Amino acid sequence: MGPWWIGRALFFLLMVPGILAWGKEGHYAICKIAEGYLTEDALAAVKRLLPDSAEGDLAAVCSWPDEIRFHLRWSGPLHYVDTPDFKCNYKYCRDCHDTAGRKDRCVTGAIYNYTMQLTTSYHDSVLESKYNLTEALMFLSHFIGDVHQPLHVGFLGDEGGNTITVRWYHRKTNLHHVWDTMIIDSALKTFYNSDLATMILAIQRNITDDWSNDVLSWETCSSNHTVCPDPYASESISLACKFAYKNATPGSTLSDDYFLSRLPVVEKRLAQSGVRLAATLNRVFASGAKIAVG
Ligand SMILES: [Zn+2]
Repeated sequence: MGPWWIGRALFFLLMVPGILAWGKEGHYAICKIAEGYLTEDALAAVKRLLPDSAEGDLAAVCSWPDEIRFHLRWSGPLHYVDTPDFKCNYKYCRDCHDTAGRKDRCVTGAIYNYTMQLTTSYHDSVLESKYNLTEALMFLSHFIGDVHQPLHVGFLGDEGGNTITVRWYHRKTNLHHVWDTMIIDSALKTFYNSDLATMILAIQRNITDDWSNDVLSWETCSSNHTVCPDPYASESISLACKFAYKNATPGSTLSDDYFLSRLPVVEKRLAQSGVRLAATLNRVFASGAKIAVG
């Protein structure tokens, strides 16, 4: 390891706009929302696994996989899954692989893998695990966020909107970056006094008011599975076709019409990822499951 600033400088040099996941704000919001839905058992387990730098706050480390993805190059393909152009559907067997064709190397495969690591280790013995469970927790929390960003399950041909150049109001950017960062940034400035805590509070209120009847279905995985990223990916590509790609052809300028009609989609996806991350961690760290599994 060289001096810290070399890593820093490389990191910023490599930070080409648009290739990161939901921006820092998005991941922070998702994990903050999740914290509010954790059971006592899950919260205790999470706190035990968090690195000291998190100071007990899961949200503080939810962007960590974006910060290390250029050092740990193998982790790059785990942030997304590409689907066939204009098909608007997702299939695990067909789509979950990296560019070299290696199976399971995509965001949904990563979610299965890190859930398995946490579950098996928690049921056996955390201390003797062959896995790094701190990293597993941070990866899982991040990737459940990523799979909800519609363009993280976008078309292969445009790399999930990364190669679609658009203007966001006056600024030149790409469509993927609009969905990772720009919609949230504009919402913060326009509606939330540039305060992320206020935006999170508004989303939390929506969960307990407008969306309260949906929360149970968001949390549930069919057949009592611990985790179920495939339906989340299917929802994402469907939303990508209906909202993200729609009226966002290369060279177009996106402004009020696009912003105001897509913001509700973004806010709902942040809410769903938070609720589902908590539900997943609650199932992974359910104390009763220790016995039930045997
Ligand atoms: Zn990511």
